[in-house]
Amino acid sequence: MSEIRKTDILVVGGGAAGLSAAAEAASLGAKVTVLESDLHLGGQLVKQTHKFFGSKDEHAGTRGYKIADIILDEIRACGDKVEAFTNTSVIGYYKNDGIVTVMRGEEEYYKLLPKKIVMATGAQERIIPFPNNDIPGVYGAGAVQTLMNVYGVVPGKRVLMIGAGNIGLIVSYQLMQAGVEIAAVLEALPKIGGYWVHAAKIRRLGVPILLRHTIKAALGADMVDGAVVQDIETGELSHVECDVICLAVGLTPTNEMLWQAGCEMRYIPQLCGHVPLRDPKLRTSHPDIWIAGDAAGIEEASSAMVEGRIAGLAAAQSLGFKADEGKFDEYHERLAALRRGEAGEKIRSGLALAQVDDWRDE
Ligand SMILES: Cc1cc2nc3c(=O)[nH]c(=O)nc-3n(C[C@H](O)[C@H](O)[C@H](O)COP(=O)(O)OP(=O)(O)OC[C@H]3O[C@@H](n4cnc5c(N)ncnc54)[C@H](O)[C@@H]3O)c2cc1C
Repeated sequence: MSEIRKTDILVVGGGAAGLSAAAEAASLGAKVTVLESDLHLGGQLVKQTHKFFGSKDEHAGTRGYKIADIILDEIRACGDKVEAFTNTSVIGYYKNDGIVTVMRGEEEYYKLLPKKIVMATGAQERIIPFPNNDIPGVYGAGAVQTLMNVYGVVPGKRVLMIGAGNIGLIVSYQLMQAGVEIAAVLEALPKIGGYWVHAAKIRRLGVPILLRHTIKAALGADMVDGAVVQDIETGELSHVECDVICLAVGLTPTNEMLWQAGCEMRYIPQLCGHVPLRDPKLRTSHPDIWIAGDAAGIEEASSAMVEGRIAGLAAAQSLGFKADEGKFDEYHERLAALRRGEAGEKIRSGLALAQVDDWRDE
């Protein structure tokens, strides 16, 4: 415990954003350490069996887990410039001396002193309050995806899905591919939040998507055996038989360490929670910390990868490694393309509230 390990750049989180940051920083010559608390590198990507949307540069049309393989190949090509450790969590940041504390497995605990940090810790699932929401059978959609697509385990026989955003729709379809029945998809809003193509797939298979409906209670003594559902417009209650209630009600950025580091944070609903303010190169108000991906605001893997590249490049540049400014321009153009149009309106308005032009002007 007394030894303090060192690295040029610490990347916290080995998902789409973190791996892209590591590859980019290492390509300039920086020594990078990636720490990932999960047993696999790739973050959310490893459980995405569907083909991604986005742009060709960000591998649109490729299945999520294959995109993870592509970035991992890039990391491997960096040789010993990138060291990546799984089952290893960053558990604290001490702002007086810049030390982070790390837990590897359940036995090893050590201190690490990075020169620079890219926080790419992704997101956490939201849970909504209702009676009995803590009995076995109530899952987050991400947990269901991990069970099915990483460990090959179906969570039950008949699922009530809460939330008709992309995650609720995609996980519903993946459950059906695994032979699980979907009783219904409930959505509190008056319209479906996810892409129509995902909604159409499950509608064609006969799944009702009930708008302006919500869950009132989970039923069951020891485990879920049903749910009470409410029509929000009329107040009418009904009973749904199911053994799993799956919550796909949104994500919120994981950013405890940014709070610990004293980064200037702001609550921005469009980015789904508290997020750090950042300059165009994704540096936070802390001079040694950059952010990328869902930790910076909930978006998509495509933008997480590009943000990771910007943050990795900028962190390496701050250490004196020579970065081509044209690359930043290219990445910003790619982000702008991903965020254009009506679909990008929410994120654009959120980012406008999170961005500062230059910290030196603050
Ligand atoms: C069902 C579903 C479908 C999706 N479909 C699409 C799609 O079609 N197209 C698209 O572009 N995007 C899609 N996405 C979104 C996409 O997966 C995420 O936006 C993207 O993975 C974000 O990347 P990230 O690196 O920021 O976070 P993540 O992929 O979540 O990676 C963050 C990593 O950080 C690790 N971590 C967190 N805290 C610590 C810590 N303290 N120490 C060490 N490690 C830590 C986590 O274990 C995790 O592996 C989908 C997501 C879901 C859930």
